[in-house]
Amino acid sequence: MKTLKRMEELDFKNTGDRMLKLIHDLYPICRSITGEGVRQTLSVLKELIPLDVLSIASGTEAFDWTIPKEWNIRDAYVEDSKGNRVIDFQKSNLHVVNYSMPVDRIMTLKELQKHLHTIPEHPDWIPYRTTYYNQSWGFCLSHNDFNRLKEDDYHVVIDATLKPGYLNYGELLIPGQTENEVLITTHACHPSLCNDNLSGISLTAYLAKYLIEQPLRYSYRFLFIPGGIGSVVWLSRNEDNISRIKHGLVVTCVGDSGSFTYKKTRQGNAEIDRAVLHVLKASGKEYEVVDFSPYGYDERNFGSPAFNLAVGSLTRSTYSQYPQYHSSADNFDLINAENLSDSFEMYLRVINVIENNRTYLNLFPKGEVQLGKRGLYGKMGGLQNRPSSELPLLWVLNLCDGDHTLLAICERAGLHFDEAKHAVDVLIQHDLLKDLN
Ligand code: ZN
Repeated sequence: MKTLKRMEELDFKNTGDRMLKLIHDLYPICRSITGEGVRQTLSVLKELIPLDVLSIASGTEAFDWTIPKEWNIRDAYVEDSKGNRVIDFQKSNLHVVNYSMPVDRIMTLKELQKHLHTIPEHPDWIPYRTTYYNQSWGFCLSHNDFNRLKEDDYHVVIDATLKPGYLNYGELLIPGQTENEVLITTHACHPSLCNDNLSGISLTAYLAKYLIEQPLRYSYRFLFIPGGIGSVVWLSRNEDNISRIKHGLVVTCVGDSGSFTYKKTRQGNAEIDRAVLHVLKASGKEYEVVDFSPYGYDERNFGSPAFNLAVGSLTRSTYSQYPQYHSSADNFDLINAENLSDSFEMYLRVINVIENNRTYLNLFPKGEVQLGKRGLYGKMGGLQNRPSSELPLLWVLNLCDGDHTLLAICERAGLHFDEAKHAVDVLIQHDLLKDLN
């Protein structure tokens, strides 16, 4: 059977640069959970991968939710009485509270201030705020700019529309040898914010682009969905096929310099949990593991009680755990190509484990197999330290009793997945092992 390329044969040098370039292309677009920004984003992604773009009409019910009216924005500003734009959407799309209703009014500073949001502890940063399900409006600005506002009559304009339209999302299924699926999903609703969540969109897109060329055991389903409601809508439309999903990961925050964080699935000890933990441990890098909680990204919907899907989330710094989170400082100073390619490699290593985590049977289980006569043993006997190259062969032979998957063997024997897989390949070549799958 053909399998994924061995990890050491892969070259990740250019991947990070290409991922960063895609983030640059998508950064200026004002995305939200519905509207032109999502469609534009999906059409940029369609140039890279053959995404299906789905459209679900406003008013459609999905479990406990209803698809809201579509939001589109052309311009927004606050102008002083001299005609100076003191807040200008054209300078940053974060200046408008995302999903603000249209406004065109003259108002005093006092009235305006009720609709202004800042981050006093980071006075240069513009916060990112949303009001999807509560009809209101607002502006976000740096605390320094806020302090500069004087008594005046301000012309407040939000040239936006909230009308019946569509919620859009992108979906791509890459078929493998089996119908069992791995779900890789990212939200695609944040405007000009790099780590959360353009890094996730970019990594997911490049992972799909890579896997589409590979021989695969699992089928891979990629989703680019508006956060929260997107996963609810997708689940409501795919309820019948949900049992095909065996493993899943939510991708975001993969471009910053923070160490990796893995948020476990609701199940807590699913194969994907074990695969990610094995890869993180074997990487020798620092990492953190956090338990599932019904908060955060779309894992809370995939892990809702009726579905309880094995979907975890592998990030670097995670939501609300880095100061720049949901602010204008989540920009190109926070992410770089090296971190992006490092994260890409980590995802691929996890997929490599999932793809190759099979069960094998030792065909000579009575006594130790004589490796020497098959040329598999070091020529010199009696060494004090047994050459480590034989240990993976011995462990794999010993634990291939039909009850241990390759990952279970690695966990018990302290082997890296790649060396155990290599041992399996060698032992199969010498007719010592049989694949039980
Ligand atoms: Zn976010």
